[in-house]
Amino acid sequence: MKEALYYEKREQGVQCFLCPHYCNIHEGHTGLCCVRKNIEDVLYTLNYGKITSMHADPVEKKPLHYFMPGTYTFSIGSFGCNLSCPFCQNYTISKGNPKSYDYTPQDIVTLALKEQLPSISYTYSEPLIFYEYMLDTAVIAKKNGLKNIVVTNGYINPEPLHALIPSIDAMNIDLKTYDDTIYKKKLKGSLQPVLNTIETAIKHCHVEVTMLIVPGISDDLKKIEEAAIRLSEMDKNIPLHLSRYFPRYRYNEPPTELSLLQQAYDACKKHLKTVITGNV
Ligand code: SF4
Repeated sequence: MKEALYYEKREQGVQCFLCPHYCNIHEGHTGLCCVRKNIEDVLYTLNYGKITSMHADPVEKKPLHYFMPGTYTFSIGSFGCNLSCPFCQNYTISKGNPKSYDYTPQDIVTLALKEQLPSISYTYSEPLIFYEYMLDTAVIAKKNGLKNIVVTNGYINPEPLHALIPSIDAMNIDLKTYDDTIYKKKLKGSLQPVLNTIETAIKHCHVEVTMLIVPGISDDLKKIEEAAIRLSEMDKNIPLHLSRYFPRYRYNEPPTELSLLQQAYDACKKHLKTVITGNV
């Protein structure tokens, strides 16, 4: 276990500042993400160096279509998440208690170099809540000429984001819905911090955005178009991936209708240069 960054002691317990939940964590407890624990008023990151998934993936699978296309990326993930999406596509590692294997940041970089992979992707579950491990790995990777890719829900506070981003070359950020009420009620997050992350990231690195079109969560065409307008105000060139949902975890609505995906594509294409449909 490693001591976490971004927390302060409080009269009772500690408060974590890594993400906008600002969890107050009492002795012996973890925050909402289940991977940051208060032990004797020191906050520890429980998933530091605990790798649950590791694979060489085409970079297009992240999805990133305009960053080092045609290459493979050394993809790693750990466990835990700071949102609570009922349709989670990776719930076995984000919500479960999966088997993990120990790798130091240097181990990861050495493996990527050995396999001659030009980039490392922090992905699969939510990399922002293995922040310390991702940051340590990304710094070493960069020194060794590797690129760093973050595939994330974007739910992080500005200070840790600014500290991370100089080491990051590309991000795919999930915009799970453009409805703040749904973000709050169904995903246990909120919209504005994610928009802030996108806005900051596009100033520093290559960014593509993904919207998973989930019935009852993010299938309102008016909201989808509003999202595209907001993104176009940031940068008309941001590639937007509209992904088809399939039932997973605790969500059993049928898969996204292909006709809806097409309508969403048409609505977004009015505002953004590049819209891509995926999972079809
Ligand atoms: S990173 Fe985890 S512990 Fe910290 S504020 Fe977010 S959910 Fe809470």
